[in-house]
Amino acid sequence: MKTLIALIAASAVRSYRLRGPMALAVTKRTLPRRMSADPVGEMPDGLHAAVGGSGSPLPDPKRGNPCLAVIAGERVFIVDAGERASETLTRMRIEPGRIEAVLLTHFHSDHIGGLGSLTIQRWVAEQTTTRMRVIGPPGVERVIAGYNEAFALDSGYRTAHHGEAVARSEIGGMTAEPFSFPQGADSIVVLDDGALKITAFEVDHSPAEPAVGYRFDYKGRSLVVSGDTSYSPVLVRVAAGADLLIHDALSPELTKLVGDAAAAAGLAARAKIFADIPDYHASPGEAADAAREAGVGALALTHIVPPLPLKALQGPFLGDARERFTGPLWIARDGDLYSLPSGGKGVERSSMIGRGPGA
Ligand SMILES: [Zn+2]
Ligand SMILES: [Zn+2]
Repeated sequence: MKTLIALIAASAVRSYRLRGPMALAVTKRTLPRRMSADPVGEMPDGLHAAVGGSGSPLPDPKRGNPCLAVIAGERVFIVDAGERASETLTRMRIEPGRIEAVLLTHFHSDHIGGLGSLTIQRWVAEQTTTRMRVIGPPGVERVIAGYNEAFALDSGYRTAHHGEAVARSEIGGMTAEPFSFPQGADSIVVLDDGALKITAFEVDHSPAEPAVGYRFDYKGRSLVVSGDTSYSPVLVRVAAGADLLIHDALSPELTKLVGDAAAAAGLAARAKIFADIPDYHASPGEAADAAREAGVGALALTHIVPPLPLKALQGPFLGDARERFTGPLWIARDGDLYSLPSGGKGVERSSMIGRGPGA
């Protein structure tokens, strides 16, 4: 018996010692394939939305700050770049060199905190020949000027270290491209080249102003990103008939529960924040109302507040949303891919992390 135990123990020690070399061998074998993976190039022609961050400024181990990659054909646009955007896009193997532009919905920290990292990753990517374009409402110039200044030393170091062929100084940093709504209008087309049309529209996230959402139309398919907003009649109008609506969602009930807990713990500042935030985000039920009234095909809720550490909290989070919108309704997760192939009708959800394209 003693011998048997000793044998098992020795084998366990041996296999433990082998784990490092085995991990190295597996990494060596799989890394080239992982590095050359290009799931965007393998997607069917159409519109796709890949979730780079489905959370909010509240720290959430499961969700990064807001970021969505909208893929039209093989063109990639990033709507908001919160913290962890770069990491999650990398896990999804969305090649930063493919990014054509970033579109910002507004300038809350959770929507811009990942811009620096994303820009550097794109700058030194193989295909990059242009500066990162950042399109947004007025204020984007100030945000980008600040980022460019904050990262100026870093860019200089990298060019000095890697050379102009890899880190071209003339395309470092970002270029701000502000747009304004025409007098009396609440929407504007910010890009239209025949194949793809992107429309920005005003939403209500006061006192964060301006705040906008975006509608993408490509080859007969369409998706709308709300940005941060309470229930918005403008969104309902602009989103009319879209295939997919990706909407901000905060549960007032669960937010109150967290706020009450903060107050009971003597955390007055935190309790005040939790009491303040429901007035500038839509509840899941209100997002469902917007989806139903706009007649969209499917609804994905994102910017999930508060964090949902238990899966069983999804039901209380949704409340009666599934009664208020009876089409497909999802709570977005980081790594989700929503696919709208051209010529198709529905919306398919899969994950780009661990499964699905590029896995
Ligand atoms: Zn936000
Ligand atoms: Zn916000």
